[in-house]
Amino acid sequence: MRPEGSTSYQDYQELYSSCRLCPRNCNISRRGGVCVPKKGFCGETDQLRVGYIGPHFGEEPPITGTNGSGTVFLSGCSLKCSFCQNHQISHHGLGTSIGPVELFNKIQDMIGTHHVHNINFVTPDHFFPHIFYIVSLLRKLGLDIPIVFNTSGYQSVEMLKHAEEHSDIYLPDYKYSDSSMAARLSKCPDYPAVALDAISEMLRQKGFLDACLSDLDIAKKGVLVRHLILPGQVENSINALTSLFLEFGAQLPISLMSQYHPVLPHADECLNRSVSKEEFDQVLSHANDLGFEHLFVQFPETGSDDLQETSPFLPDFRLEKPFRQ
Ligand code: SF4
Repeated sequence: MRPEGSTSYQDYQELYSSCRLCPRNCNISRRGGVCVPKKGFCGETDQLRVGYIGPHFGEEPPITGTNGSGTVFLSGCSLKCSFCQNHQISHHGLGTSIGPVELFNKIQDMIGTHHVHNINFVTPDHFFPHIFYIVSLLRKLGLDIPIVFNTSGYQSVEMLKHAEEHSDIYLPDYKYSDSSMAARLSKCPDYPAVALDAISEMLRQKGFLDACLSDLDIAKKGVLVRHLILPGQVENSINALTSLFLEFGAQLPISLMSQYHPVLPHADECLNRSVSKEEFDQVLSHANDLGFEHLFVQFPETGSDDLQETSPFLPDFRLEKPFRQ
């Protein structure tokens, strides 16, 4: 399945023909042309679409630096968690169609104007064929800016092998240790095992985030795993951290995120509020007890639990600048 030569646009596009770009394995043709393109679970055809392109200052310090991370938020998602903080673009179709060359040009502009420290593709896996092509164009131009693949953790090892030559940094989530919770909230009971395999492959390719192992201010290569703490789900977080520790050891860089905020009314009542300080402290204390040596911590902010329309705690992709940071 790996395209020979690996830089031909047409070779990459072939991956959309019977789409198995993520472990959902929909096996449908997302390609246009003579046939009507189909949409799989991710909700996207082979028409590249983005929700936001621009510098972002909300990532971990070695990714954000002083100039920001050059983010490209893709529309659609292969995971579609029911609580997604970016639901406007992941679930509800917000985004603009863009050609790969146009996106390549916008990325070049962003580098030239803002001097961002990296190009950070957020949720890229269902558009990997386009992203691989754009990265190959950047490389051909001699731009050695780090390429970040910021993912849900729900990736297949096979696709990650395709991604290896196009990525420098992986920022995977590890969301669930509990398969019934993964089934309930993301319709993927196999998430815990699939994501551990994916992280293992990412680490084989890139190792631990280099900035954690040296005195580099800005990361150039490696893996940093993120975990979003969900309200009322401390046990899931504790077990997720334990699994990561047992699989990958104390040197694995971990980012504990507490920014969860209710988006739309959720059937799971505890997801209609933010994470409490007590819940956060319990999870942080477990991470410290395990002995993780490279822990990034985002402490919970106190504020309202209002939903999207009025909340400053969530990105709003209807705006030119969706993030308050
Ligand atoms: S990328 Fe989309 S269409 Fe392809 S397998 Fe995943 S969910 Fe299905």
